[in-house]
Amino acid sequence: MYSFVYDDLVILFGPKRTTHMITLKKDGKFFTSNGVLMHNDIVAVNSGSIVKTDKRIPYTVFKPTYKDFVMNIKRKAQIIYPKDTAIMLMWGDVYPGLEILESGVGQGALSIALLRALAGNGNLVSYEIRDDFAEQAGNFISEFSGETANHKIVKGDIYDGFEGVYDRVFLDLAEPWNVVKFTKDGLKSGGIIVAYIPTILQVKTYVDTLKEAGYFTEIEIFENIKRPWKVDGLSVRPESWMYNHSAFIVSSRKISI
Ligand code: SAH
Repeated sequence: MYSFVYDDLVILFGPKRTTHMITLKKDGKFFTSNGVLMHNDIVAVNSGSIVKTDKRIPYTVFKPTYKDFVMNIKRKAQIIYPKDTAIMLMWGDVYPGLEILESGVGQGALSIALLRALAGNGNLVSYEIRDDFAEQAGNFISEFSGETANHKIVKGDIYDGFEGVYDRVFLDLAEPWNVVKFTKDGLKSGGIIVAYIPTILQVKTYVDTLKEAGYFTEIEIFENIKRPWKVDGLSVRPESWMYNHSAFIVSSRKISI
């Protein structure tokens, strides 16, 4: 059971599927279209409780999950959505103790998931070309994950290369093929590279580059299509609308040649 304290993030689920994420402050007030929620009332309860506004409208309050957090932060960069992050972690076979390289950091959504999977063992290095994104991502990551001594954000252009040798490489870039040549020395034999790529023309160039490198095998190219359904009385069927396309995922393993 989780009890809230001041400075905690909390996610509120209100009427008509409204969602808000706020930080709890002593004597703070959150103004909704359904009345005012007092932060002190939330601090008095556990995650999963119902708290009412001054107009007696109920809101359910939770400690945010990873998905709640990344879907509710004010975003400047396009993040990798949790449905894709989930499968990227599995195809990238991420576990504690690995040395991981990532680029770019964007909003830090993938970074948070990678750090969670490392669970404090092993290291994550994130290359980011834009100073403002590097800074902002650092703030988001610490907001959700607290101190992460095993994470380093390097400000720089990954297309110029990177320092170190890694077990895993995760790419979320417009031209991921520019990084492939650096994996000759920068990715360990048996290591895995996973790329998140919006368009199929980019996928084609990337996969051709992996093949030309000559030391990649087990190339898998796929999309993760999550199709929501509803169960509402006798209306048991797929939802009419879905988020249809995010990006393709390409994973591959390095061999010794
Ligand atoms: N995966 C991130 C989103 C990354 S968006 C998340 O889940 O939040 C892509 C990022 O790559 C942007 O921040 C962009 O500034 C950065 N980028 C683009 N080209 C780059 C390069 N050549 N080197 C390093 N970072 C780069």
